[in-house]
Amino acid sequence: MSSAHTEQPGTPPEQAELDAVVVGAGFSGLYMLHRLRDTLGMTARVFEAADDVGGTWYWNRYPGARCDSESYFYSFSDRLSEDLLEEWTWSERFAAQPEILRYLQHVADRYDLRKDIRFRTKVVGADYDAATGRWTVRTDDGGQVTATYLITAVGCLSTTNLPDFPGRDSFRGESYHTGVWPHEGVDFTGKRVIVIGTGATAVQAVPEIAQDAAHVYVLQRTANYDIAGGNRPMDAEDGRKIKDNYREIWKTTRETAFGFPYEVADRTALSVSDEERQRIFAEAWERGGFRLGTTFNDLLLDEKANETAAEFLRARIRERVRDPKVAELLSPRDHPFFTKRPPLENGYYETFNRENVTLVDVREAPIQEITPTGVRTADAEYEADVIVYATGFDAMTGTLFRLGIRGRDGVALEEKWAEGPHSYLGIATHGFPNLFMITGPQSPSVLSNMPVSIEQHVDWITDCLRFLREQGYDTIEALPDAEDDWVGHHNEVTQLTLLPRANSWWVGANIPGKPRNLYPYVGGVGTYRLICDEIAARGYDGFGLGSGGTITTGQFTGAARRKYTEIVEEAATKAS
Ligand code: FAD
Ligand code: NAP
Repeated sequence: MSSAHTEQPGTPPEQAELDAVVVGAGFSGLYMLHRLRDTLGMTARVFEAADDVGGTWYWNRYPGARCDSESYFYSFSDRLSEDLLEEWTWSERFAAQPEILRYLQHVADRYDLRKDIRFRTKVVGADYDAATGRWTVRTDDGGQVTATYLITAVGCLSTTNLPDFPGRDSFRGESYHTGVWPHEGVDFTGKRVIVIGTGATAVQAVPEIAQDAAHVYVLQRTANYDIAGGNRPMDAEDGRKIKDNYREIWKTTRETAFGFPYEVADRTALSVSDEERQRIFAEAWERGGFRLGTTFNDLLLDEKANETAAEFLRARIRERVRDPKVAELLSPRDHPFFTKRPPLENGYYETFNRENVTLVDVREAPIQEITPTGVRTADAEYEADVIVYATGFDAMTGTLFRLGIRGRDGVALEEKWAEGPHSYLGIATHGFPNLFMITGPQSPSVLSNMPVSIEQHVDWITDCLRFLREQGYDTIEALPDAEDDWVGHHNEVTQLTLLPRANSWWVGANIPGKPRNLYPYVGGVGTYRLICDEIAARGYDGFGLGSGGTITTGQFTGAARRKYTEIVEEAATKAS
């Protein structure tokens, strides 16, 4: 298996005493470092396993990789800098990986962030010492630093999932996981290629690979509801319009349910006639992107409403794929629309009209083993020169658990969360004082346009650290009652939606043995922000506060519960 990681000689291992350690140098880690250092004047170090910034956009260099959030809001907002918004112009509606990586490199340079980032350095352990109230963080180069605050910026999708197929290492050809793609690229010209998986990654990669390969076998276990992306170049006029309106755009992203600058329409799917519904779906389809999911407010809540969108999408597949059997195989029937993350596609379905592309149903005839020459399923053998694993990630907790975090009394995070995440707001967890998790599980995270959620968490953490300093504290810990209350609310909203119905990575179903829970919070980005703000405004309600590792004050009043109730009642009304 090839990897994008390049080994280079490092500088001597670090030994330092810091205010904060941040793990990861993607969107989250870069913005967090800027806030810690330049807003709060703290000493901070970022540790990053890769040899450059970028996170997702450093690692995922597979052909066709691009964002599914439109670039003009898949970026830092005016919270970071109005000048940067003015200065940066995206070349495409959905920018490709190299351009997003260039953008993040530009941010790192513009704010002089690299000097406090230690690259090629993996965090392998972090222990909380209750006697001093400090974290000791160990790195794979033998380094050890201590810090008052430990902030994870490790991303939700940064640990690859490579299924343990029998014989996997016996394959004599080349094999790659899309999430650790080689920097030099892969030449598919004239080669027979097997792609395993049909998620958002495969949907981007397959059309590109098919252009060069002799033959591509696409091994599909679950058909997805792919939505038209509608990518196109951005011209100067597009750019100007966005720049002229950025304040309004960003304000909207912060208030809407999914962190996008489009509102979810205030109507239910069955409240309009069939013709009107088709017209609404068709218009959203034409405009491309996730707008289709915002056409009605009950698509995620009501099965009948959902089925109208599902059937609209199946009809688009039948229109575009010539062979009716292939079209049917590509049509999802086993889960509601948007209960698995719908990929955005630009020509994916037409790819199956090509003579050099074969769709293989590995639900009906599962993969049995990887052989030296290819893949053997229950009913056939497929020979290949290259196997591409587009098999996703051990999302949300996968990377967090690999950090080796131990809180009070040496309890490991994965022990505390053995039955699934148990957090307060997805940011903090009892027993792990001064640990903040940017886009942690049970926060909106992957159910949102992530830069908006990342900025919200970073800004909230920044305000919290300022508050602690101003009040003479340096220790903060989620209280158990507050955490139980949050988890209870999280589960209650989840159960009102259709999301538990699908075997998605959102519920951990892609990883054998992973506890089945909804990992992201589905109550909405805008309302989640209000909850977090109210908790902060009440002196960090639900958190214990103190100094040197000792909590001396703090209570849980349930101040934000009014908001929880509103969210649940609103969802229940739409669902009924
Ligand atoms: P990441 O970008 O994942 O960065 C985390 C960093 O932490 C990595 O660089 C990793 O090397 C480092 N790290 C992890 N563990 C350690 C360790 N132990 N020691 C040191 N370093 C460590 N989201 C959207 O909202 N819209 C999109 O269009 C979109 N497109 C995506 C496309 C792809 C292909 C993928 C995989 C994800 C996409 N996402 C998208 C989600 C994306 O992950 C986030 O938008 C965002 O990039 C996350 O940034 P981050 O900084 O939080 O995490
Ligand atoms: P994914 O959505 O988890 O898809 C993995 C695919 O591999 C699925 O089709 C899955 O089938 C299949 N698979 C896994 N194990 C298998 C096995 N043992 N046998 C057969 N098939 C197997 O992963 P992804 O496509 O990399 O996307 C992950 C997430 O990253 C996305 O949902 C999205 O959030 C993000 N992403 C975003 C973009 C973008 O915005 N541009 C692009 C790529 C990725 P099942 O469905 O049956 O499990």
